[in-house]
Amino acid sequence: MGESEFTSIARLKASIDSSNTWLCTLFLLKIKNKGLTSMCDPFIRNFQYNLIKNQADSVIRALRTVSDPKILESVRFGAQTKVTELYPDAADDRRALLEAVSELKTAEDLQKYMQELEPYLIPFPSVTEKQIRRLFPKNKKLKLPDLSQLDFRYVSYLSWIDIATQKMFLVYDDNGQVVGVEGRYTSTRKKSYCFACNRYEELVLFSAVSKKRTAHASPDYYKSVGNYLCVDGHTCNKNITDVASLEKLIGSVLK
Ligand SMILES: [Zn+2]
Repeated sequence: MGESEFTSIARLKASIDSSNTWLCTLFLLKIKNKGLTSMCDPFIRNFQYNLIKNQADSVIRALRTVSDPKILESVRFGAQTKVTELYPDAADDRRALLEAVSELKTAEDLQKYMQELEPYLIPFPSVTEKQIRRLFPKNKKLKLPDLSQLDFRYVSYLSWIDIATQKMFLVYDDNGQVVGVEGRYTSTRKKSYCFACNRYEELVLFSAVSKKRTAHASPDYYKSVGNYLCVDGHTCNKNITDVASLEKLIGSVLK
């Protein structure tokens, strides 16, 4: 290793969070001297992390169940394509990190790989109880989830229900602005496909009143937006691999 490379790594090592340091440094050594300053900036959102995990799982599953090398190769290539498509403008260092999904061989590799990605997770903005209360000013006795129990790295959106008022609340980071959506919920007490994560889970029917008004709408006109959503926000956040549906819902209520 050259003198300058060593110095760069040492400087970087000192400037970043201690929990990220070791993994970042290892990667820097692995990929040599490319993009040193940007390498350790978080760039993976929770739903993207879930998508990468799903693709990594599919590689490991194929290795266990498929014997045809051509099929295996196509699974590997497919996984790599889906993961790199998330970041079309990724620099070489990040691309190398992402492409490594196709080289996983064992469950242990998968676990290590997902751990290596953790320092790059962009956490959900660390909202306070006060900020959340301000999003729902009409709810004087707003019941809140225990924020101290949440690992914001694994949050794409916050959701919780208040049984007493039969209301459901969603909080989302809409391009840097934290927004809140509230609505009624009806328990379905059965499993089906969640509109946000698209997985087979226990759902509620969430109905929110749209704030949108058409030009000629009468004063008591309102449009209700209804969607089936995971009753458990934690489960949904572990599943979700795309936020398009969620953003569409939030947009249809707020904008
Ligand atoms: Zn869900």
